[in-house]
Parts: sequence; C-alpha cells; structure tokens
Amino acid sequence: MNIQTSKIDVLIIGGGLAGLSSAIHLAKHKFSVVVIEKNSYPKHKVCGEYISNEVIPYLNYLDIGVFDLGAKKISKFELTTTKNKQIKVNLGLGGFGISRFCLDEAMAKKAVENGVQIIEDNVIDIKFINDEFFVTTKTNQKFISKIAIGAFGKRSNLDVELHRTFIKKKSPYLAVKTHVKGDFPDDLVALHNFQGGYCGVSKVEDGNINVCYITNFEAFKKHKDIETFQKKVLFKNNKLKAIFENTEPVFKTPLTISQISFETKQPVENHVIMCGDTAGMIHPLCGNGMSMAIRSAQIASHVIIAYLQGKTATRHDLEQQYHKQWNATFKNRLKTGHFVAALFNKEQLAEMSMVILNWFPGLLSHIIKRTHGKPMKAE
Ligand SMILES: Cc1cc2nc3c(=O)[nH]c(=O)nc-3n(C[C@H](O)[C@H](O)[C@H](O)COP(=O)(O)OP(=O)(O)OC[C@H]3O[C@@H](n4cnc5c(N)ncnc54)[C@H](O)[C@@H]3O)c2cc1C
Repeated sequence: MNIQTSKIDVLIIGGGLAGLSSAIHLAKHKFSVVVIEKNSYPKHKVCGEYISNEVIPYLNYLDIGVFDLGAKKISKFELTTTKNKQIKVNLGLGGFGISRFCLDEAMAKKAVENGVQIIEDNVIDIKFINDEFFVTTKTNQKFISKIAIGAFGKRSNLDVELHRTFIKKKSPYLAVKTHVKGDFPDDLVALHNFQGGYCGVSKVEDGNINVCYITNFEAFKKHKDIETFQKKVLFKNNKLKAIFENTEPVFKTPLTISQISFETKQPVENHVIMCGDTAGMIHPLCGNGMSMAIRSAQIASHVIIAYLQGKTATRHDLEQQYHKQWNATFKNRLKTGHFVAALFNKEQLAEMSMVILNWFPGLLSHIIKRTHGKPMKAE
C-alpha cells in the first residue's frame, strides 16, 4: 500500500479537459497537484470534437496552442432535418475541431511539465474527515489532500459511491463516434437530424472527419446492429447518407457509450468541487460541453487559489462562491440546451423549427450565442 500524505494541496479525480485545465492552472500557481486518471493517454473518446472559441484565451494562458496541434478553424454551421430541409449560418464566435486523442494528451503533457503528478488508477473511494480528503484507488493507493476536485466526467463509479441523485435514474441516451477520411470542408460543423437523434460532423487534425451521433435506446433497439441502424435510420437524411457512403472509416469499429444523462447535478457534493460533466452536462447538440468543462475548471481554480492563499476565510465560503459562480455562468446555457434538444427530439417540431429558422435565420444565431458564451478571461 502506498500512502501519499505529504504536501498534496489539490487532488483531482479524472484527467479529462476539466481535470487537466484546473491541474495546469493550479500548478502554475505553485500548488502541489495530483491527478488520478483511470485511463492512459492518448485515448479516443466519444465526443463531437467541435470546441467553441470562447476557450482560446484561457487555453493560451495554459500554454495549449490548439492550432499548433493541427486544430481546424470552424466558422460555418449547417443544420438539416430528416426531411432534408437545411439552413446554413456563419457562427458568430466560431470554434475549432480537434480530437480528444490529441487534445487530452497535449494537456496531460503540459500538466506534467508544470509539475503535476498524474497517476493512472481508478479512484474507488473518497471521504471527507476533519477538513481533509482521504482518497483510495483500486490498487489500494491512498492519498490525503486539502482540496478535492471531482472531474470524473458524465458517469462514474464515484457517482454511485457518493450517492449522487442523478445516477439512480436510468437514461435512454447512447452515442456512437467514428473518424472517417474523405471530402468535407475544414471550416464547417454540420448537425444532421435523424429520427430519434442527431449527428455532428466536423473536421479534426490530420484531415480526419469526426462523425458522432446521439440517439435513444428505443430508436436503436429495433435494429440488429450499428450498421443496420445507420442504413435504415441515418441514411434517410441525404447528407448523412452521402457522408457514410463517400468516406473511408479510420476506426476499425466505432466507439459507443450509453446511459448519457442530462439530469441536474450539484456543483459541490460532500465538499468535493465538481467540474465539467461531473457538475452538469449540456446536450451535445449545443457543441458546448468541452468549453463548459474548461470554463468550470477556471472558475474552480480561482476560488481554490483564493482559499489556499487564505483570502477566503472558510471552506464553506469557498464552496458557496463556486456554487454561485457556477450557477451564474451555466444555468441559462443548460436551460437553452434542454430547450433546443426538446425541439429536435420530435420530428414534427424539428421540421416546424426549421421553417421558422429559415424565416428568421437571426434566431439560430441567437440560440448559438446563448449556448456558446463569451470569450473567457485569459487567466
Ligand atoms: C455524443 C457526444 C458528443 C459531444 N460532442 C461535443 C462537441 O462537439 N463539443 C463539445 O464541446 N462537447 C461535446 N460533448 C461533451 C463533451 O464531450 C464533454 O462535455 C467533455 O468531455 C467534458 O469533459 P470532462 O473533463 O468533464 O469529462 P471527461 O472528458 O469525460 O473526463 C473525465 C475523466 O475522468 C476519468 N474517470 C472517471 N471516473 C474515474 C475514476 N473513478 N478514477 C479516475 N478517473 C476517472 C475518465 O477516464 C475520464 O478521462 C459531447 C458529448 C457526447 C456524449
């Protein structure tokens, strides 16, 4: 058994975008930071891989140059429905396309360069006793820290361990992601609606095209496998049919995940500061979860720094501050996300919405603005 008791200011559970952003930020301020991540880098993740430009100033501060890593600049958005109605608008703020395989690994390297210790293990237990966190991993390593950040994503064994309410409800959503090679504009992110779901398409580094869709289990279970589901359901949308038929797969088999939940969560639980999807998840069709993860890490880092420097008097104040700032930053975005998802979940509503959006294209830009947020402060 390895017990690491010395000098851990902040222990971060989960080394995705939220965990790694806060790790780099806190290490830059000379705090001792340990990240425990159950998987090794690099690793593909189910994600649309389109990120809002709002994060660029902060990523620059963290020394992550996404365009040096090959990210594609994206400035146009196309939306189509099952009945093949389509609308195209310029994205106000815009975004970029980069794979999680590439971005997470680059951030993990940067964290290590800044002195963060990254440990590959699965956290199975976390307790808060006498103002300290006691964390145990699957291989029975033990850690004690002043602060714990929960950045363990949308669904984890720790949600069960912490008795979080959302985990008790079954979720009907599943997602499939693959990379393909073929013709697709570098500067476009497309969202193609199909019966029971929607599929995002955009370019990432190395000329790969990310194709990622989310659907519900009811729609999916009528078909014997992914390929049949795609042919029978997704191919009714002409754009999707063309993408699948005119490209070559890069992955041997697509990645899949299930039980994706959009239930409300709490940004602080059992004194753990929750970041990214662990605090709340926006519908992927808004293309905004990654920037929310990175932004929440920045908010958490600020309040934690103030607390560890003695500028915030009590842990209670730290937790209150985070809770308040998290709500002020994300509550409305999440509401808009729920609203948009509800519109596109029903075929008739989706078609009607498209008619309205075609009449008033400014409305679409307004919705995108409401989910994209303003550029973050550099530090
Ligand atoms: C289908 C789909 C499409 C999406 N498309 C987009 C998009 O185009 N644009 C966008 O901005 N967002 C998108 N998102 C959302 C985005 O993927 C997430 O919001 C983002 O990944 C959240 O980052 P995170 O750091 O919170 O979590 P993650 O990236 O999931 O990281 C959590 C980490 O915690 C680790 N972990 C979990 N449990 C433990 C444990 N017990 N011990 C140690 N480690 C643990 C995991 O291995 C993982 O690496 C999409 C989501 C889905 C489902």
